Order: sequence, then structure tokens, then C-alpha cells
Amino acid sequence: MAFKDFAEQTGPIELLQRSLDRGRLGHAYLFTGPEIDHLEEVTRALVKTLNCESPPKRGRHGSALDCCDACLACRKIDRANHPDVRWVRPESKSRVITIDQMRDLMQTVNLKPTQAALKVSVIVAADRLNVQAANAFLKTLEEPPADSILVLLSTDPQRLLETILSRCLRLNFAGEGGRWRDPAFRTWLQGFSQMAASESSGMLGRYRLLSVFLNRLNEIKETIKRNLAAKSPLEQYDDIDPKLKEKWEDELEASIEAEYRRQRVDLLAGLQWWFRDVCLATMNLDGIPPFFPELASSVGKVAARMTPREAMKNLEQLEQTQGLLNTNVQEALALEVGLLKLTL
Ligand SMILES: [Zn+2]
Repeated sequence: MAFKDFAEQTGPIELLQRSLDRGRLGHAYLFTGPEIDHLEEVTRALVKTLNCESPPKRGRHGSALDCCDACLACRKIDRANHPDVRWVRPESKSRVITIDQMRDLMQTVNLKPTQAALKVSVIVAADRLNVQAANAFLKTLEEPPADSILVLLSTDPQRLLETILSRCLRLNFAGEGGRWRDPAFRTWLQGFSQMAASESSGMLGRYRLLSVFLNRLNEIKETIKRNLAAKSPLEQYDDIDPKLKEKWEDELEASIEAEYRRQRVDLLAGLQWWFRDVCLATMNLDGIPPFFPELASSVGKVAARMTPREAMKNLEQLEQTQGLLNTNVQEALALEVGLLKLTL
């Protein structure tokens, strides 16, 4: 399968293609979604695109944006016998990825690619890394060799260590729409869209939209705190040993932070979809349905104020902001820098 065969996954695939086009593919990705086979297919399409001998689609600077699915390199990858592409899977009996498997992989990661420009290592069901294996792998994840990329696949990313999650660019292949049918998100986005349509463009307008976004993040954090605190053992026992109490408090804090980060990624991703609708509206394309059809009128008003090029730049800007939030940059700073650069 090539990228073009994933018609229902245009969002994350467009993001990958834009990175390919700019020659700025990340060093470590986490692909998530409900089916591992599907994630493997998407990964194969990416790897084939990187290696394809006659790509059917090229970007502005000549980089391949899709694969032919037929040349020798593409076929080798489909048959899993390309020397520069390594796949690691849980062992069949224990269903875990062991430290030996990871050590083995790390050795080959550091070798130069033989046929391709990039070496690709794919970890299937990365949530099955046992703790030692995950720790052995962290150093490579922090400093991957320049000509190498790592792709982690998981249907259950909650089980991944936070240290791994935070070092990967995460793309969700859950199928479009599912996550953003959440009524609270829909209501918020409608307000955001109307406000964006009615604000005149300019710094003041952008600041007001930024504060709407930050308020939503605050609400999300408060809800997570309430829900997780209610589940914590701290709530269930009155007389707790101080050491144990401290441990539980630390655990609670860590799980709040992890869940918050996940939901922040989702909120920003939802906003990216809204900006994609704006972008489509600037291009007057027929035949590509908007993601949020109920917002067409406010989206249209925003689109009327900008060129397709500016709309594309907005998408790139949001992508960079997602990337920045994955690093250790302070959240408020990353969002302010990122969102105030948007054209609206
Ligand atoms: Zn090919």
C-alpha cells in the first residue's frame, strides 16, 4: 500500500508528507491507532516512500511524497528483507520485547545504512517493551544517529513510559472524527471558530484567541485532577504512612501530568483540523469535504482574510508548536510563541 491508499487518514499522512517535502522528518515517531496491522501498513508506506526508485509524487524540492509500491526497493520492504529497515516485535511466547532484542537493534542502528539514505528501525507494539528494554533504548531515543529514524507503533500508548512518549513525535491514526466528536470539544471549537470569524485580524485578536485556548487547557487540567484524585488511594485511606503518602502523591502528580500532556496534544490536533478546513476554504477546492462542516460559515469568514499560502503556513506553525511542546520548553512560552505567529 502507498500513502494514496489511506484515503481515510489524510490528516496524519499529510503531516508526514509536509515533513518529507521540507526535508525535516523527525528522528523518532510514535504512531498510535486501534489496529497494529494498520499502523504497520502506514509505516511500510513511509519507509517505501523514503526508498522508492520511482516515486509517483514529488515535493517542491524533489523529495518523494509517496511510493510506487512496485519497484525493487518497495517490494523488498513489503517482503521485510530490505537491509536498512529493521522490525522488532514482541517475542511470541512472552509477548514482551526483551532487552536482548533492543541491544541487538541498537547495535545495527548505529551502523551506516547500506542501500538507503536513512536507516529505519520499527518497534511494533512498543508498549510491550519491558522496563529494562525501554531504559536501554532511551539513550538512542535521546540522541538518534543522524541518518536514522525510529518508528514506534502502539495501540496502547498509555502503557509507554512518559520518558519515551515525550521524546517521540506522535501521530494518531485513529481514523478521522472519532476523538473530536466529544461534545465538550465541539462546543469549545464552535466558540473559538465564531470568535476567530468576528475578531478583526491583528495582535489583539490573536491574544484573545490564545487566551480562549489557554482557558480550555485549564479546564482540561482541572477535570483531570478531579478525576484522577478521586481514583487515587490517597482518597481511600485516612491513616497513611508518611513515606507511602509521599509516594502516592508523586504518582498522582505524574499521572496527572501524563494525561494532561496527552489531552493537550489532542486539543491542539483538533485545532489543526480546524485550520486545515480554513486552508481548504482558501483554495476553493471542490470534492474534499471539510472536517467540521457545521462550522463552514465562520471558517469561510476566516479563510476570506488570508491567502492559501498563509493558511498553509498556519498548519506548519501548529505542527512546530506540537513539536515544541514535546520538548522541555515551558508550555506557556511554546504556546505564546506558536499561536501568536498564526495568521487569522
Ligand atoms: Zn517504489
